[in-house]
Amino acid sequence: MDKPVRVRFAPSPTGRPHVGNIRTAMFDWLLARHTGGTFILRIEDTDVERRVEGAVEYMMDALNWLGLDWDEGPGKGGDYGPYYQSQRLELYQDAAAKLVAQGDAYYCYCSPERLDAMRKEQEARKQSPGYDRLCRNLSPQERAAKEAAGIKPVVRFKVPLEGQTKFHDIIYGDITCENSNIDDFVMLKSDGYPTYHLANVVDDYAMKISHVIRDEGWISSAPRHLMMYKALNYEPPQYVHHPVIVGSDRAKLSKRHGATSLLDFRNMGYLPEAMFNFLALMGWSLDDKTEIMTRQQVVENFSLERMGKTGAFFNIEKLDWMNGVYIRGLTVEDLTNRVLPFLEKDLPPEVKRPLDINYIRQIMPLIRERIKTLKDAATYADFFFVDKLEYEASMLIGKKMTTETALAALKGAEEKLSSLESFDHDLLEDSLRHLADDLGIKTGQLFNVLRVACTARDATPPLFETMVVLGKERCLKRIKIAISKLGNNSNL
Ligand code: GLU
Repeated sequence: MDKPVRVRFAPSPTGRPHVGNIRTAMFDWLLARHTGGTFILRIEDTDVERRVEGAVEYMMDALNWLGLDWDEGPGKGGDYGPYYQSQRLELYQDAAAKLVAQGDAYYCYCSPERLDAMRKEQEARKQSPGYDRLCRNLSPQERAAKEAAGIKPVVRFKVPLEGQTKFHDIIYGDITCENSNIDDFVMLKSDGYPTYHLANVVDDYAMKISHVIRDEGWISSAPRHLMMYKALNYEPPQYVHHPVIVGSDRAKLSKRHGATSLLDFRNMGYLPEAMFNFLALMGWSLDDKTEIMTRQQVVENFSLERMGKTGAFFNIEKLDWMNGVYIRGLTVEDLTNRVLPFLEKDLPPEVKRPLDINYIRQIMPLIRERIKTLKDAATYADFFFVDKLEYEASMLIGKKMTTETALAALKGAEEKLSSLESFDHDLLEDSLRHLADDLGIKTGQLFNVLRVACTARDATPPLFETMVVLGKERCLKRIKIAISKLGNNSNL
Protein backbone atom coordinates (compact mmCIF):
# COMPACT_ATOMS: atom_id res chain seq x y z
CA MET A 1 0.00 0.00 0.00
CA ASP A 2 1.53 3.29 -0.95
CA LYS A 3 -1.35 5.40 0.30
CA PRO A 4 -0.09 7.81 2.96
CA VAL A 5 -0.68 6.53 6.45
CA ARG A 6 -3.67 8.21 8.06
CA VAL A 7 -4.85 6.66 11.27
CA ARG A 8 -7.56 7.72 13.65
CA PHE A 9 -8.29 7.18 17.28
CA ALA A 10 -12.07 7.27 17.51
CA PRO A 11 -13.17 7.18 21.14
CA SER A 12 -16.77 7.41 22.24
CA PRO A 13 -16.95 9.95 25.07
CA THR A 14 -18.59 7.65 27.59
CA GLY A 15 -16.33 7.99 30.62
CA ARG A 16 -12.76 8.09 31.78
CA PRO A 17 -10.33 6.61 29.26
CA HIS A 18 -9.44 2.99 29.91
CA VAL A 19 -5.75 2.09 29.53
CA GLY A 20 -6.82 -0.28 26.76
CA ASN A 21 -8.28 2.58 24.74
CA ILE A 22 -5.24 4.71 25.20
CA ARG A 23 -3.03 1.81 24.18
CA THR A 24 -4.99 1.67 20.92
CA ALA A 25 -4.37 5.39 20.48
CA MET A 26 -0.70 4.73 21.11
CA PHE A 27 -0.49 2.17 18.32
CA ASP A 28 -2.19 4.66 15.99
CA TRP A 29 0.24 7.34 17.04
CA LEU A 30 3.25 5.04 16.69
CA LEU A 31 2.31 3.99 13.18
CA ALA A 32 1.77 7.61 12.20
CA ARG A 33 5.03 8.80 13.70
CA HIS A 34 7.03 5.86 12.38
CA THR A 35 5.83 6.42 8.82
CA GLY A 36 5.57 10.19 8.84
CA GLY A 37 1.81 9.79 8.54
CA THR A 38 -1.08 11.60 10.19
CA PHE A 39 -2.72 10.83 13.53
CA ILE A 40 -6.32 11.96 13.80
CA LEU A 41 -8.53 12.26 16.85
CA ARG A 42 -12.19 11.78 16.04
CA ILE A 43 -14.89 11.90 18.66
CA GLU A 44 -17.63 9.34 18.08
CA ASP A 45 -20.33 11.05 20.06
CA THR A 46 -23.48 9.96 18.30
CA ASP A 47 -24.76 7.78 21.11
CA VAL A 48 -26.47 10.61 22.93
CA GLU A 49 -27.62 8.50 25.86
CA ARG A 50 -24.14 7.25 26.71
CA ARG A 51 -22.40 10.59 26.30
CA VAL A 52 -20.70 11.72 29.51
CA GLU A 53 -19.98 15.34 30.32
CA GLY A 54 -16.25 16.03 30.40
CA ALA A 55 -15.27 12.73 28.77
CA VAL A 56 -13.68 14.40 25.74
CA GLU A 57 -11.56 16.53 28.04
CA TYR A 58 -10.49 13.43 30.01
CA MET A 59 -9.53 11.78 26.77
CA MET A 60 -7.47 14.71 25.58
CA ASP A 61 -5.88 15.03 29.00
CA ALA A 62 -4.85 11.37 28.89
CA LEU A 63 -3.44 11.63 25.36
CA ASN A 64 -1.54 14.78 26.24
CA TRP A 65 -0.16 13.25 29.39
CA LEU A 66 1.32 10.37 27.42
CA GLY A 67 2.56 12.72 24.71
CA LEU A 68 0.29 11.29 22.02
CA ASP A 69 -0.22 14.50 20.09
CA TRP A 70 -2.75 14.47 17.28
CA ASP A 71 -2.35 16.23 13.95
CA GLU A 72 -6.02 16.68 13.18
CA GLY A 73 -8.97 16.78 15.51
CA PRO A 74 -10.47 18.81 18.33
CA GLY A 75 -8.37 21.82 19.14
CA LYS A 76 -6.21 21.25 16.06
CA GLY A 77 -8.56 21.49 13.13
CA GLY A 78 -7.64 19.88 9.81
CA ASP A 79 -8.93 19.52 6.29
CA TYR A 80 -11.37 16.71 7.06
CA GLY A 81 -13.33 18.19 9.96
CA PRO A 82 -15.47 18.61 11.85
CA TYR A 83 -13.98 15.91 14.03
CA TYR A 84 -17.03 15.42 16.23
CA GLN A 85 -19.47 13.00 14.64
CA SER A 86 -22.41 14.85 16.14
CA GLN A 87 -21.47 17.70 13.81
CA ARG A 88 -21.47 15.51 10.71
CA LEU A 89 -25.01 14.11 10.76
CA GLU A 90 -25.81 15.21 7.25
CA LEU A 91 -23.02 13.09 5.79
CA TYR A 92 -24.45 9.96 7.40
CA GLN A 93 -28.00 10.81 6.39
CA ASP A 94 -26.86 11.30 2.80
CA ALA A 95 -25.05 7.97 2.76
CA ALA A 96 -28.08 6.20 4.21
CA ALA A 97 -30.38 7.84 1.65
CA LYS A 98 -28.02 6.81 -1.13
CA LEU A 99 -28.05 3.19 0.04
CA VAL A 100 -31.83 3.21 0.26
CA ALA A 101 -32.11 4.73 -3.22
CA GLN A 102 -29.87 2.10 -4.76
CA GLY A 103 -31.65 -0.75 -3.00
CA ASP A 104 -28.95 -1.65 -0.45
CA ALA A 105 -30.88 -0.40 2.56
CA TYR A 106 -34.49 0.04 3.55
CA TYR A 107 -36.77 1.83 5.96
CA CYS A 108 -37.96 -0.20 8.88
CA TYR A 109 -41.08 0.87 10.77
CA CYS A 110 -41.16 -1.85 13.40
CA SER A 111 -41.99 -0.54 16.84
CA PRO A 112 -39.73 -1.16 19.84
CA GLU A 113 -42.56 -3.32 21.29
CA ARG A 114 -42.64 -5.52 18.21
CA LEU A 115 -38.85 -5.88 18.21
CA ASP A 116 -38.93 -6.75 21.88
CA ALA A 117 -41.58 -9.41 21.43
CA MET A 118 -39.63 -10.81 18.48
CA ARG A 119 -36.46 -11.01 20.56
CA LYS A 120 -38.28 -12.82 23.37
CA GLU A 121 -39.74 -15.31 20.98
CA GLN A 122 -36.33 -15.96 19.44
CA GLU A 123 -34.89 -16.52 22.90
CA ALA A 124 -37.70 -18.92 23.80
CA ARG A 125 -37.09 -20.89 20.61
CA LYS A 126 -33.35 -20.75 21.21
CA GLN A 127 -32.87 -19.02 17.87
CA SER A 128 -30.03 -16.62 17.35
CA PRO A 129 -31.21 -13.06 17.86
CA GLY A 130 -31.62 -10.67 14.97
CA TYR A 131 -34.13 -8.67 13.01
CA ASP A 132 -36.60 -10.89 11.12
CA ARG A 133 -36.56 -8.63 8.04
CA LEU A 134 -40.28 -7.90 8.15
CA CYS A 135 -39.85 -4.47 6.54
CA ARG A 136 -37.31 -5.63 3.96
CA ASN A 137 -40.01 -6.45 1.46
CA LEU A 138 -42.75 -3.94 2.19
CA SER A 139 -44.71 -2.97 -0.89
CA PRO A 140 -44.79 0.73 -1.84
CA GLN A 141 -48.39 0.85 -0.59
CA GLU A 142 -47.52 -0.66 2.76
CA ARG A 143 -44.66 1.80 3.12
CA ALA A 144 -46.89 4.72 2.21
CA ALA A 145 -49.41 3.64 4.84
CA LYS A 146 -46.71 3.56 7.55
CA GLU A 147 -45.50 6.99 6.48
CA ALA A 148 -49.04 8.32 6.49
CA ALA A 149 -49.45 7.02 10.04
CA GLY A 150 -46.50 9.24 10.98
CA ILE A 151 -44.17 6.41 12.01
CA LYS A 152 -40.59 7.54 11.93
CA PRO A 153 -38.49 4.74 10.43
CA VAL A 154 -34.94 3.59 11.03
CA VAL A 155 -32.76 2.67 8.08
CA ARG A 156 -31.48 -0.91 7.96
CA PHE A 157 -28.78 -2.31 5.76
CA LYS A 158 -29.88 -5.06 3.41
CA VAL A 159 -27.37 -7.74 4.29
CA PRO A 160 -26.82 -10.25 1.47
CA LEU A 161 -28.70 -13.42 2.36
CA GLU A 162 -26.01 -15.69 1.03
CA GLY A 163 -22.30 -15.76 0.43
CA GLN A 164 -19.38 -14.80 2.60
CA THR A 165 -17.56 -11.65 3.54
CA LYS A 166 -13.81 -12.08 3.71
CA PHE A 167 -11.11 -9.75 4.77
CA HIS A 168 -7.49 -9.72 5.77
CA ASP A 169 -6.44 -8.47 9.14
CA ILE A 170 -2.78 -7.54 9.57
CA ILE A 171 -2.63 -9.27 12.96
CA TYR A 172 -5.35 -11.94 12.83
CA GLY A 173 -4.85 -12.92 9.18
CA ASP A 174 -7.67 -13.95 6.84
CA ILE A 175 -11.13 -13.83 8.35
CA THR A 176 -14.29 -15.20 6.74
CA CYS A 177 -17.82 -14.52 7.86
CA GLU A 178 -21.00 -16.15 6.58
CA ASN A 179 -23.37 -13.39 5.54
CA SER A 180 -26.30 -15.44 6.77
CA ASN A 181 -25.01 -14.91 10.32
CA ILE A 182 -25.53 -11.18 10.13
CA ASP A 183 -28.91 -9.57 10.49
CA ASP A 184 -30.11 -6.40 8.78
CA PHE A 185 -28.54 -3.99 11.20
CA VAL A 186 -29.67 -0.43 11.82
CA MET A 187 -27.53 2.27 10.19
CA LEU A 188 -29.61 5.32 10.91
CA LYS A 189 -31.90 5.74 13.88
CA SER A 190 -35.34 7.32 13.67
CA ASP A 191 -34.01 10.57 15.15
CA GLY A 192 -31.56 10.94 12.26
CA TYR A 193 -28.51 9.89 14.28
CA PRO A 194 -26.32 7.21 12.76
CA THR A 195 -25.29 4.04 14.56
CA TYR A 196 -21.61 3.42 15.15
CA HIS A 197 -21.35 1.23 12.04
CA LEU A 198 -22.54 3.81 9.53
CA ALA A 199 -20.76 6.79 11.02
CA ASN A 200 -17.53 4.83 11.35
CA VAL A 201 -17.54 3.76 7.71
CA VAL A 202 -18.57 7.14 6.32
CA ASP A 203 -15.90 8.93 8.32
CA ASP A 204 -13.08 6.49 7.77
CA TYR A 205 -13.69 6.92 4.08
CA ALA A 206 -14.21 10.70 4.20
CA MET A 207 -11.10 11.17 6.32
CA LYS A 208 -9.03 8.95 4.03
CA ILE A 209 -8.11 6.56 6.81
CA SER A 210 -5.52 4.03 5.64
CA HIS A 211 -5.44 1.69 8.66
CA VAL A 212 -8.14 0.99 11.20
CA ILE A 213 -6.44 -0.01 14.44
CA ARG A 214 -8.74 -1.14 17.25
CA ASP A 215 -9.15 -3.98 19.68
CA GLU A 216 -10.24 -7.49 18.79
CA GLY A 217 -13.72 -6.83 20.18
CA TRP A 218 -14.51 -5.04 16.93
CA ILE A 219 -13.60 -7.93 14.61
CA SER A 220 -17.23 -8.98 14.47
CA SER A 221 -18.19 -5.49 13.26
CA ALA A 222 -15.76 -5.50 10.36
CA PRO A 223 -17.91 -7.65 7.99
CA ARG A 224 -20.80 -5.20 8.41
CA HIS A 225 -18.47 -2.36 7.61
CA LEU A 226 -17.08 -4.12 4.56
CA MET A 227 -20.57 -4.72 3.22
CA MET A 228 -21.25 -1.01 3.50
CA TYR A 229 -17.92 -0.12 1.87
CA LYS A 230 -18.86 -2.37 -1.02
CA ALA A 231 -22.35 -0.97 -1.38
CA LEU A 232 -21.07 2.61 -1.21
CA ASN A 233 -18.29 1.75 -3.63
CA TYR A 234 -15.63 2.92 -1.18
CA GLU A 235 -12.22 1.35 -0.94
CA PRO A 236 -11.92 -0.12 2.59
CA PRO A 237 -9.01 0.60 4.90
CA GLN A 238 -6.58 -2.04 6.13
CA TYR A 239 -7.62 -3.68 9.36
CA VAL A 240 -5.41 -4.09 12.38
CA HIS A 241 -7.27 -5.63 15.29
CA HIS A 242 -5.16 -6.20 18.35
CA PRO A 243 -5.70 -8.28 21.49
CA VAL A 244 -7.28 -6.64 24.51
CA ILE A 245 -5.37 -6.14 27.73
CA VAL A 246 -6.03 -8.90 30.25
CA GLY A 247 -5.58 -9.02 34.02
CA SER A 248 -3.81 -11.66 36.09
CA ASP A 249 -6.71 -14.11 35.55
CA ARG A 250 -6.50 -13.62 31.77
CA ALA A 251 -9.89 -11.93 31.70
CA LYS A 252 -10.24 -8.53 30.02
CA LEU A 253 -8.78 -5.86 32.30
CA SER A 254 -11.59 -4.37 34.32
CA LYS A 255 -12.22 -2.53 37.56
CA ARG A 256 -12.04 -5.68 39.61
CA HIS A 257 -8.34 -5.98 38.65
CA GLY A 258 -7.67 -2.51 40.11
CA ALA A 259 -7.11 0.78 38.37
CA THR A 260 -8.06 0.83 34.70
CA SER A 261 -8.32 4.49 33.85
CA LEU A 262 -5.13 5.93 32.45
CA LEU A 263 -5.51 9.03 34.57
CA ASP A 264 -5.63 6.89 37.71
CA PHE A 265 -2.11 5.79 36.93
CA ARG A 266 -1.06 9.41 36.74
CA ASN A 267 -2.64 10.00 40.15
CA MET A 268 -0.90 6.93 41.51
CA GLY A 269 2.46 8.47 40.62
CA TYR A 270 3.50 6.65 37.49
CA LEU A 271 5.63 8.60 35.05
CA PRO A 272 4.26 9.07 31.55
CA GLU A 273 7.58 7.87 30.11
CA ALA A 274 7.26 4.59 32.02
CA MET A 275 3.61 4.18 31.13
CA PHE A 276 4.41 4.79 27.48
CA ASN A 277 7.17 2.18 27.51
CA PHE A 278 5.00 -0.29 29.41
CA LEU A 279 1.95 0.08 27.17
CA ALA A 280 4.00 -0.09 23.98
CA LEU A 281 5.37 -3.45 25.07
CA MET A 282 1.91 -4.81 25.69
CA GLY A 283 1.14 -6.16 22.25
CA TRP A 284 4.29 -5.08 20.45
CA SER A 285 7.92 -5.95 21.02
CA LEU A 286 11.25 -5.00 19.57
CA ASP A 287 12.93 -8.36 19.91
CA ASP A 288 11.15 -10.24 22.71
CA LYS A 289 13.73 -9.17 25.24
CA THR A 290 14.41 -5.42 25.29
CA GLU A 291 12.35 -3.84 28.06
CA ILE A 292 13.49 -0.28 28.54
CA MET A 293 13.13 1.84 25.45
CA THR A 294 12.84 5.55 24.96
CA ARG A 295 9.89 6.98 23.09
CA GLN A 296 12.23 7.71 20.17
CA GLN A 297 13.47 4.12 20.03
CA VAL A 298 9.92 2.81 20.03
CA VAL A 299 8.93 5.21 17.24
CA GLU A 300 11.96 4.25 15.17
CA ASN A 301 11.44 0.54 15.53
CA PHE A 302 7.68 0.26 15.55
CA SER A 303 6.06 -2.06 13.03
CA LEU A 304 2.65 -3.66 12.75
CA GLU A 305 4.34 -6.92 11.86
CA ARG A 306 5.76 -7.21 15.35
CA MET A 307 2.39 -6.83 17.03
CA GLY A 308 1.27 -10.08 18.58
CA LYS A 309 -1.92 -12.05 18.62
CA THR A 310 -1.70 -13.23 22.18
CA GLY A 311 -3.44 -11.46 25.04
CA ALA A 312 -1.51 -8.58 26.46
CA PHE A 313 -1.07 -9.22 30.16
CA PHE A 314 -1.22 -6.21 32.45
CA ASN A 315 1.58 -6.99 34.85
CA ILE A 316 1.51 -4.33 37.51
CA GLU A 317 4.76 -5.61 39.07
CA LYS A 318 6.48 -4.99 35.78
CA LEU A 319 5.01 -1.50 35.60
CA ASP A 320 6.25 -0.80 39.13
CA TRP A 321 9.70 -2.01 38.23
CA MET A 322 9.77 0.03 35.05
CA ASN A 323 8.55 3.12 36.85
CA GLY A 324 11.36 2.69 39.38
CA VAL A 325 13.89 2.51 36.55
CA TYR A 326 12.53 5.70 35.03
CA ILE A 327 12.46 7.46 38.40
CA ARG A 328 16.10 6.60 38.99
CA GLY A 329 16.91 7.99 35.56
CA LEU A 330 15.51 11.44 36.36
CA THR A 331 17.73 14.30 37.44
CA VAL A 332 17.25 15.39 41.05
CA GLU A 333 15.75 18.62 39.80
CA ASP A 334 13.21 16.87 37.61
CA LEU A 335 12.32 14.35 40.29
CA THR A 336 11.87 17.16 42.83
CA ASN A 337 9.44 19.00 40.59
CA ARG A 338 7.43 15.89 39.90
CA VAL A 339 7.32 14.73 43.52
CA LEU A 340 6.37 18.13 44.91
CA PRO A 341 2.64 18.03 44.04
CA PHE A 342 2.37 14.51 45.48
CA LEU A 343 3.99 15.55 48.76
CA GLU A 344 1.81 18.65 48.93
CA LYS A 345 -1.20 16.41 48.66
CA ASP A 346 -0.15 13.33 50.58
CA LEU A 347 1.82 14.52 53.60
CA PRO A 348 -0.23 14.77 56.80
CA PRO A 349 -2.24 17.98 57.13
CA GLU A 350 -0.22 19.25 60.06
CA VAL A 351 2.87 19.66 57.87
CA LYS A 352 3.15 23.34 56.95
CA ARG A 353 2.44 24.24 53.32
CA PRO A 354 3.80 25.31 50.93
CA LEU A 355 6.66 22.88 51.27
CA ASP A 356 10.23 24.03 50.96
CA ILE A 357 11.42 22.92 47.55
CA ASN A 358 15.09 23.22 48.51
CA TYR A 359 14.54 20.81 51.36
CA ILE A 360 12.77 18.37 49.03
CA ARG A 361 15.65 18.63 46.58
CA GLN A 362 18.02 17.43 49.33
CA ILE A 363 15.77 14.52 50.23
CA MET A 364 15.35 13.16 46.71
CA PRO A 365 18.78 11.49 46.35
CA LEU A 366 18.07 9.67 49.61
CA ILE A 367 14.81 8.10 48.58
CA ARG A 368 14.94 7.73 44.86
CA GLU A 369 16.45 4.25 44.96
CA ARG A 370 13.52 3.12 47.08
CA ILE A 371 10.44 4.65 45.57
CA LYS A 372 8.56 2.95 42.78
CA THR A 373 6.02 5.70 42.25
CA LEU A 374 5.99 9.42 42.91
CA LYS A 375 3.27 8.77 45.43
CA ASP A 376 5.62 6.54 47.45
CA ALA A 377 7.64 9.65 48.31
CA ALA A 378 5.23 10.68 51.04
CA THR A 379 5.49 7.24 52.66
CA TYR A 380 9.27 7.06 52.49
CA ALA A 381 9.99 10.66 53.37
CA ASP A 382 7.24 11.69 55.79
CA PHE A 383 9.63 11.69 58.76
CA PHE A 384 11.56 14.51 57.13
CA PHE A 385 8.50 16.71 57.45
CA VAL A 386 6.39 15.81 60.46
CA ASP A 387 7.16 17.48 63.75
CA LYS A 388 6.06 14.81 66.12
CA LEU A 389 7.23 11.30 65.32
CA GLU A 390 5.00 8.47 66.46
CA TYR A 391 6.72 5.33 67.67
CA GLU A 392 6.87 3.04 70.65
CA ALA A 393 9.71 3.70 73.09
CA SER A 394 10.58 -0.03 72.95
CA MET A 395 11.73 0.47 69.35
CA LEU A 396 14.68 2.44 70.72
CA ILE A 397 16.04 -0.61 72.47
CA GLY A 398 17.73 -2.67 69.81
CA LYS A 399 19.35 -6.06 69.94
CA LYS A 400 21.49 -6.69 73.01
CA MET A 401 20.61 -3.26 74.35
CA THR A 402 18.87 -2.23 77.54
CA THR A 403 17.00 0.90 78.54
CA GLU A 404 20.17 2.06 80.24
CA THR A 405 22.53 1.48 77.32
CA ALA A 406 20.05 3.03 74.89
CA LEU A 407 19.68 6.06 77.16
CA ALA A 408 23.41 6.37 77.52
CA ALA A 409 23.80 6.18 73.76
CA LEU A 410 21.22 8.90 73.17
CA LYS A 411 22.65 11.17 75.85
CA GLY A 412 26.16 10.67 74.51
CA ALA A 413 24.98 11.45 71.01
CA GLU A 414 23.17 14.55 72.18
CA GLU A 415 26.30 15.85 73.77
CA LYS A 416 28.53 15.06 70.81
CA LEU A 417 26.19 16.47 68.23
CA SER A 418 25.57 19.69 70.17
CA SER A 419 29.25 20.39 70.16
CA LEU A 420 29.74 19.79 66.43
CA GLU A 421 30.56 22.97 64.59
CA SER A 422 29.41 21.81 61.27
CA PHE A 423 26.90 19.09 60.67
CA ASP A 424 28.44 17.24 57.75
CA HIS A 425 28.60 13.60 56.90
CA ASP A 426 32.25 12.91 57.71
CA LEU A 427 32.25 14.77 60.97
CA LEU A 428 29.08 13.04 62.08
CA GLU A 429 30.41 9.63 61.20
CA ASP A 430 33.72 10.23 62.87
CA SER A 431 32.32 11.52 66.14
CA LEU A 432 29.62 8.86 66.37
CA ARG A 433 32.08 6.05 65.73
CA HIS A 434 34.20 7.39 68.57
CA LEU A 435 31.15 7.60 70.75
CA ALA A 436 30.34 3.94 70.16
CA ASP A 437 33.88 3.04 71.21
CA ASP A 438 33.62 5.19 74.32
CA LEU A 439 30.31 3.59 75.26
CA GLY A 440 31.61 0.12 74.55
CA ILE A 441 28.80 -0.73 72.16
CA LYS A 442 28.85 -1.67 68.50
CA THR A 443 28.46 1.12 65.98
CA GLY A 444 25.42 -0.68 64.59
CA GLN A 445 23.79 -0.59 68.02
CA LEU A 446 24.37 3.12 68.35
CA PHE A 447 23.23 3.88 64.84
CA ASN A 448 20.04 1.92 65.33
CA VAL A 449 19.02 3.92 68.37
CA LEU A 450 19.75 7.13 66.55
CA ARG A 451 17.90 6.00 63.48
CA VAL A 452 14.76 5.29 65.46
CA ALA A 453 15.07 8.55 67.39
CA CYS A 454 15.51 10.67 64.28
CA THR A 455 13.19 8.90 61.88
CA ALA A 456 10.82 6.66 63.88
CA ARG A 457 11.74 3.68 61.76
CA ASP A 458 14.37 1.02 61.77
CA ALA A 459 15.13 1.01 58.08
CA THR A 460 15.87 4.26 56.28
CA PRO A 461 18.19 5.76 53.75
CA PRO A 462 21.81 5.96 54.97
CA LEU A 463 21.77 7.39 58.48
CA PHE A 464 24.36 10.18 58.24
CA GLU A 465 23.03 11.54 54.97
CA THR A 466 19.56 11.48 56.49
CA MET A 467 20.73 13.33 59.60
CA VAL A 468 22.56 15.93 57.53
CA VAL A 469 19.40 16.69 55.58
CA LEU A 470 17.29 16.76 58.75
CA GLY A 471 19.78 19.24 60.18
CA LYS A 472 21.33 19.60 63.58
CA GLU A 473 18.44 21.33 65.23
CA ARG A 474 15.82 18.78 64.19
CA CYS A 475 18.07 15.85 65.10
CA LEU A 476 18.84 17.19 68.54
CA LYS A 477 15.19 17.89 69.21
CA ARG A 478 14.29 14.36 68.20
CA ILE A 479 17.06 12.84 70.30
CA LYS A 480 15.82 14.81 73.32
CA ILE A 481 12.30 13.50 72.78
CA ALA A 482 13.67 9.95 72.55
CA ILE A 483 15.54 10.45 75.84
CA SER A 484 12.41 11.56 77.58
CA LYS A 485 10.43 8.69 76.04
CA LEU A 486 12.91 6.22 77.51
CA GLY A 487 13.16 8.11 80.79
CA ASN A 488 9.41 7.86 81.21
CA ASN A 489 9.53 4.14 80.58
CA SER A 490 12.16 3.06 82.99
CA ASN A 491 10.52 -0.32 83.40
CA LEU A 492 10.96 -1.23 79.74
N1 GLU B 1 -16.04 4.53 18.91
C1 GLU B 1 -15.47 3.22 18.92
C2 GLU B 1 -14.86 3.02 20.32
O1 GLU B 1 -15.34 3.56 21.21
C3 GLU B 1 -14.43 3.14 17.82
C4 GLU B 1 -14.09 1.75 17.41
C5 GLU B 1 -13.27 1.79 16.14
O2 GLU B 1 -12.10 2.15 16.25
O3 GLU B 1 -13.80 1.51 15.08
O4 GLU B 1 -13.94 2.33 20.56
